[in-house]
Amino acid sequence: MDDSKIFLPESEIPQAWYNINPDLPAPLQPPLNPATGEPLGPEDLAPIFPMALIEQEMSMEPWIDIPDDVMDVYKLWRPSPLHRAYRLEEHLDTPARIYYKNESVSPPGSHKPNTAVAQAYYNREEGVRRIVTETGAGQWGSALSFGCCVFGIEAEVYMVRISYDQKPYRRLLMQVWGADCYPSPSDRTEAGRSILAEDPDSPGSLGIAISEAVEKAAQDDEAKYALGSVLNHVLLHQTIVGLEALKQFEIADDYPDIVVGNVGGGSNFAGVCFPFVREKLAGRRDTQIIATEPTACPTLTRGIYHYDFGDTAELTPLLKMYTLGHKFIPAPIHAGGLRYHGDAPQLCLLVSQGVIEARALHQTDVFEAAVMWSRTEGHVPAPETAHGVRAAIDEALKCKETGEEKCILIGYSGHGHFDLAAYDNYLTGHLVDYELPQEKIDEAVADLPDVQ
Ligand SMILES: *Cc1c(COP(=O)(O)O)cnc(C)c1O
Repeated sequence: MDDSKIFLPESEIPQAWYNINPDLPAPLQPPLNPATGEPLGPEDLAPIFPMALIEQEMSMEPWIDIPDDVMDVYKLWRPSPLHRAYRLEEHLDTPARIYYKNESVSPPGSHKPNTAVAQAYYNREEGVRRIVTETGAGQWGSALSFGCCVFGIEAEVYMVRISYDQKPYRRLLMQVWGADCYPSPSDRTEAGRSILAEDPDSPGSLGIAISEAVEKAAQDDEAKYALGSVLNHVLLHQTIVGLEALKQFEIADDYPDIVVGNVGGGSNFAGVCFPFVREKLAGRRDTQIIATEPTACPTLTRGIYHYDFGDTAELTPLLKMYTLGHKFIPAPIHAGGLRYHGDAPQLCLLVSQGVIEARALHQTDVFEAAVMWSRTEGHVPAPETAHGVRAAIDEALKCKETGEEKCILIGYSGHGHFDLAAYDNYLTGHLVDYELPQEKIDEAVADLPDVQ
């Protein structure tokens, strides 16, 4: 039997991130100013992002060096292991080889610090004292708090009120790393105060929290804003995942026929798959790339490819993406990180060009896979992560039918240790499924801005 884990020495961590912009099979349509409909210039973004990240957002350089200070922090958990899921293979009795790239080993337990650390670094380099952001269940807030902590700057996090009250542990993690975390809506911003005036018991929403964070960052000369997914520079930082995996497959003398993972805004999936997409676009390898999403929020499989706002409050630039409409409110599935109405423009372009395919999965099927995985591989996946696991199991079962010996790579975005209430729901038979009726989608996309 070959090794169960393929480790890369620290000296072999890739020295540069991979920027897919110059390799895209069609030009990426730019973000637009929502007021004028004109493409955004760097000066439009300068009040809320540091210049280095704005440059990365628009860069056409294929490789961007990872700064030494970022590399030093990456080494707290990178390179992450590439595991072979032997016990699952045996349980399924499949001829397929299943691997997973384990991003759950980072301090906050997900892929998110790959970008949080980089963003905190560039902000500090430009003299920023404080980063303001929003968070839903707290994955991004905790990753950013960690990133700010290691670079000695302050983190101010607006956490959706209902999660703040119901899910205290990620909030406490933020506080352990020294961040200030406020329930949103708060009385600290115009946006928050106006919501509270109408509804003092508002449970909050990601849209409201974004409005609060952006308002704070724009008003404060020493502060900037940070986003944990969707934007090009975020996906860029995540490519460290797939670049390491490429080297690890070389050590294993293997190569994936299929790369599969979950998509919320698209950052962890882009991170693991873009280096393999590069090989595919260059004609060197033909890998099937499968993005998964919940049937309750089926952006890539049932959304419309159209310009839309990134947020409910219509404050952000317009992005060309698969969208269910910025007013769409998905059912309360446990994979909170997959409840975004749109997706990263780079990823959407590759889906629209047929380079990446997409699949929607039912919550109950996903948890069945998550429990099977936990009972064979031991690691308990986050509900988001379990989407990729489900699709990998489905592909491995197909191999069992056909006898094909495919090699499957799963992007394993995080652990589920803070999501055990969701597992409780499943194990006690209370988990429900959501299928989105077409009328709901038609209704939600009727509000799209009038820009192609
Ligand atoms: C945030 C999160 C996701 C979804 O976000 P992406 O930007 O699509 O990666 C998926 N898995 C985990 C564990 C997360 O924390």
